[in-house]
This record gives sequence, structure tokens and C-alpha cells, in this order.
Amino acid sequence: MTRLIFLGAPGAGKGTQAQILATSCGIPHISTGDILRAEVKEQTDLGQQAKSYMDKGELVPNSLLLDMIRGRLIQDDAVSTGWILDGFPRNVAQAEFLDRLLTEIGQKYDLAVNIHVPQDRLVTRLLDRATIQNRPDDTEDVIRRRLVVYDEQTAPLIDYYQHKGVFHHIDGDRELAAVTEQLTAFIG
Ligand code: ADP
Repeated sequence: MTRLIFLGAPGAGKGTQAQILATSCGIPHISTGDILRAEVKEQTDLGQQAKSYMDKGELVPNSLLLDMIRGRLIQDDAVSTGWILDGFPRNVAQAEFLDRLLTEIGQKYDLAVNIHVPQDRLVTRLLDRATIQNRPDDTEDVIRRRLVVYDEQTAPLIDYYQHKGVFHHIDGDRELAAVTEQLTAFIG
């Protein structure tokens, strides 16, 4: 059973690392960004409401998101094998919600990790990714907005988790495999 929380700015490599580790540990990779993009693609009510926020680089309101994350974390695979959370929590209210939810379902996370990459490298990475993935939120203006939103709302979570349980910083400005190796060592 492994339950991990991945923190990091847009472009830090959370999604890539989370996918690799989830596969090697045989646990679900729960990415709120991926879930929301799927909802947008399927034009569900949630997707239609979330899209305008995502396209501007703003956070989707908690009122739209919290039931979704609850539903995902109580699914059988998550309950029986664990999970890697990528992109959630993204503000303090979400972190508090997650704490309450885990208490309610009798779970604890094992480890929170912050993948750190300097801001100028993040912009370059995201612009490079934009040419490959063609995401509507990967234009330069929206990227800059996502980074501001990260600084204002998500970066405070580093402090939140640092004072709670097991927490590690990882230098994400290195080769992909080196980051994976260090994360794997932390998971043990
Ligand atoms: P990024 O590469 O910017 O970290 P993600 O794929 O994780 O991108 O998320 C894309 C967008 O989805 C975010 O900019 C935001 O609008 C929305 N989103 C994802 N996770 C959350 C969340 N936990 N709370 C609010 N909005 C979210």
C-alpha cells in the first residue's frame, strides 16, 4: 500500500514522474488535470464548467472538484492498493479537505514530495511542451498566469506539508531518470 502526494509547479514533472511510479508500484495515478481534461473532452456538466477556468490558467473552484476527488479516492483500486495524487491538493482548502476525507475513510498518506524546478526553466519546459501536446492552456500568457496562481495558492502547501508528516524536497531540474531514482528511494 503506497499513498503519495506530489507537489510542484506546472512543468515541474509531477505528471511524468507520477505516471512512471504509479506503473512501477501498480497503483493508480490520480491526476486532477487529466480527469478534468477528460471531462472537458466528453463535454460533461463538470467539464463545461471547468473549461473556462482551465483555459485562463485559474484553479477550478473547489465546489466543482471535491466530490470528484472523493469519488475517485473511494474507488476499489484506490482503497485496496493506494494512489499517487498529482495536481491535488492545489490550495490549503483542498489540503484540509483531503485530511478530513482520509480521516473519514481511515487512511493516511505515506509521503508528500515537492518537485522543485526554477521558474525560468518551468516557462521553457511548458512552452516546449506546448508545441508537442497542443494544450489550450499552454500559451505563454496562460502559462505565466498558471505560475502566478501556483505561487499564490499552491506554494503555501509546502509549508503545510512540511509541518505535518513525512515530506521531501526533490530537485526536479535534472535528468528524468535521476529524479525517478530519488523518488523511488524515498518510497522505499
Ligand atoms: P499543470 O501542468 O498546470 O500543473 P494540470 O494538468 O495539473 O496542469 O492542471 C491543468 C488545469 O486543471 C489547472 O490549471 C486548473 O485549471 C485545473 N486543475 C487541476 N487540478 C486542480 C485542482 N486541484 N484544483 C483546481 N483546479 C485544478
